[in-house]
Amino acid sequence: AQEKYSAIRDKPAITRDGTRLDLYMNAGLLVDLPSLKGSGAQGVGLFRTELQFLMRNVMPKRDELAKIYGHVMDSAQGLPVTFRTLDIGSDKVATYMNPLDEPNPAMGWRAIRLGLDKQGVMKMQLQALIRGANGRPLRVMFPFVAQFNEFRDARALLLKVLKSETALGHEPPSKLEIGAMLETPSLAFAPDQFFEMCDFISIGGNDLKQFFYAADRENERVRRRYDTLNVSYLTFIEQIAARCAAFDTPVSFCGEDAGRPLEALCFAAMGLRQLSMRPASIGPVKDILLQTDLDDARAVINKSRASGAQSVRADLVKWLN
Ligand code: PEP
Ligand code: MG
Repeated sequence: AQEKYSAIRDKPAITRDGTRLDLYMNAGLLVDLPSLKGSGAQGVGLFRTELQFLMRNVMPKRDELAKIYGHVMDSAQGLPVTFRTLDIGSDKVATYMNPLDEPNPAMGWRAIRLGLDKQGVMKMQLQALIRGANGRPLRVMFPFVAQFNEFRDARALLLKVLKSETALGHEPPSKLEIGAMLETPSLAFAPDQFFEMCDFISIGGNDLKQFFYAADRENERVRRRYDTLNVSYLTFIEQIAARCAAFDTPVSFCGEDAGRPLEALCFAAMGLRQLSMRPASIGPVKDILLQTDLDDARAVINKSRASGAQSVRADLVKWLN
């Protein structure tokens, strides 16, 4: 199988009926970056910046982070890297940040909520990202945005930091794109202005699915109860893709499900055109996309949905076989 995947590594992911998908990889450490070439990814769709914060007992220093972010961009050799700002809290605990003892940490004080309330840390990280970019294009996305004002405030903070950094003599990024992760169902229903302001959106399916079904992603008992290919969830993904398309806002899917071939195929059939996954999944996902006619897949999915099936998986598997 490995040989099969290396044979298609440099091929674009175009379905039999000519729809092009962009496949990116997820990363979180500098050592992940060499996989960029080997996997055939078009860039890093999700760089999880919290790992540098979780691996140690003290807060990393700004200059140290700037160096790391710079190295990440060096290693990407001009391919785009989407940096997600600190997604700490819930399952990702940094002891030196005095975590709260919360009854429901997944729904607690985490990610952008913490960032907006403790702006010192967020500002420090944004400065490090701008310094690391050092005049190159920069893509920043904020995690766990639940409503428009959180994105607007975080974006305003980034633009303020950009201004002060430039005044200090640091080279501004040649292009700055600011996006949001859609990980709570609420954001799909945000006002139009959110979609207009956002340069791009990335669906964090791990969190989105847990909140869509109210099923803890860490709890084995309930986690597998709700299929990703359930009609309700796929229809929701379809609506998000359509809403983003209406505003010309690029949208990707970067949760683990994007790396599962059948799921990836369904997301493509629901209108998504960018997927980000662990590097080893790019071959298998590209393989299924190359072999499939997306219109046919959509017809199978639609027929399955109309039949009242809970999940389209069984019909899809039958068709693929
Ligand atoms: C997600 O929620 O799908 C996601 C990509 O973020 P994380 O898994 O780091 O929460
Ligand atoms: Mg998440």
